[in-house]
Amino acid sequence: MITESIKHLNSNYDVVVVGGGPAGIAAALGAKESGAERILIVDREKEAGGILLQCIHPGFGLQHFKEELTGPEYAQRFLEQAIAQDIDIIADAYILDIDGDRRVKLMSGSHGMHVISAKATVLAMGARERTRGAIRTPGTRCSGVLTAGLAQRFVNLLGFLPGNKAVILGSGDIGLIMARRLTLEGVEVAGVFEIMPHANGLNRNIVQCLQDFNIPLYLSTTVVEIHGRDRIEGVTVAPVNEHLQPLADQSWYVPCDTLLLSIGLIPENELSRQLQLRIDPVTSGPVVSSTMETSMNGVFACGNVVHIHDLVDFVSQEAILAGRNAGLYVTKNRPPTDNIRLIPGENVAYCVPQTISSDRDHTVYMRVRRPLKESILKLGDIYEKKLRYVFPAEMVNLKVKPRFLQNFHGEALTIDILPLE
Ligand SMILES: Cc1cc2nc3c(=O)[nH]c(=O)nc-3n(C[C@H](O)[C@H](O)[C@H](O)COP(=O)(O)OP(=O)(O)OC[C@H]3O[C@@H](n4cnc5c(N)ncnc54)[C@H](O)[C@@H]3O)c2cc1C
Repeated sequence: MITESIKHLNSNYDVVVVGGGPAGIAAALGAKESGAERILIVDREKEAGGILLQCIHPGFGLQHFKEELTGPEYAQRFLEQAIAQDIDIIADAYILDIDGDRRVKLMSGSHGMHVISAKATVLAMGARERTRGAIRTPGTRCSGVLTAGLAQRFVNLLGFLPGNKAVILGSGDIGLIMARRLTLEGVEVAGVFEIMPHANGLNRNIVQCLQDFNIPLYLSTTVVEIHGRDRIEGVTVAPVNEHLQPLADQSWYVPCDTLLLSIGLIPENELSRQLQLRIDPVTSGPVVSSTMETSMNGVFACGNVVHIHDLVDFVSQEAILAGRNAGLYVTKNRPPTDNIRLIPGENVAYCVPQTISSDRDHTVYMRVRRPLKESILKLGDIYEKKLRYVFPAEMVNLKVKPRFLQNFHGEALTIDILPLE
């Protein structure tokens, strides 16, 4: 893997990218493509590649490379392109602060403290996992309770197992992947418990990680108590009613020495908040235009920092767009502007970008609030499309063409996803 590609850190760059995950690397390539010359990617881990380095299972790149790769293979392909294009990469370095004039404060063990001037910046800091505190599970504060991503790091990168008998709370993709990984490594997985009436991971992961390994999935069920003094000894689980309240009289005890939490990701937005960017309360990421520019000129964002993606291929797609526009900002000083606001309507939790333009092609990403079988997506009353099924765990993509909008002269369009009778 690639740790660093520079000997000397410059004090001026055209584009500085914060985060060397799939979003950051693809954004740097996009910026290069549209004319930016001096580009720096900064990552705080020992090696660039982001979370992909610990995702050693296949399933990446089916859309982008039309072949099935593991996470590290996917990252390596992008990193090699970045090195070939003379993009500077610095790892084991942290971006502490960015100010309104895009002066970036960087701290690195090998290069020291630096203040770098950037003509444009791309925020690609990814996301972090929600922990036990976020859902306030009652019980003792024993060891053996950890996030599924941390367990993935232990098993796949550091080479040790978190325990012998595991319970998984939450059916996010990382939890499903870890149910299979732990089973393959000889750990007994007692089950995956999901509070919602539907799973929160991709359907392919439910089939390939649970059903293929006979791991039970309990829907509308949650962990109501954690037991154990020093080490976790078991959990009490209970079904929940339609208001998500546990039904204590139907609870049962599951012995285990490990509880993995797969209860969602939160965009890593400390820098965005420091910059006082406008944040979308639903995605918890910055509000972006169709060029992936945030509410501050010259500051772009992409990947999990904007909204949580289920497939890395879409991260790369969105990041190339952000990078291209950061490059345009540097060379032409303004990416194109938008004239239409998108409003999430019936059964649409959010849409990204939040604005579009009537004279360009766009891909709009959104998530539904509840699963529907046959449904219809309506973009105002100007365009509609039938959907076979929609699921909160699977992002819905809508390609918007200028021809849809040629007779539309308003300022805002609502997107609804409605059941088909
Ligand atoms: C634990 C975990 C496991 C996952 N497993 C899968 C999976 O198996 N399959 C799948 O399709 N998707 C998986 N995902 C989803 C995955 O996050 C996305 O598909 C993709 O990696 C997002 O890319 P990104 O570049 O936005 O974020 P990341 O890959 O998270 O990269 C962000 C990078 O920014 C760095 N960074 C953050 N802040 C700073 C700072 N201030 N200074 C410097 N560097 C900084 C981080 O260290 C990190 O390397 C997983 C996510 C997590 C959190």
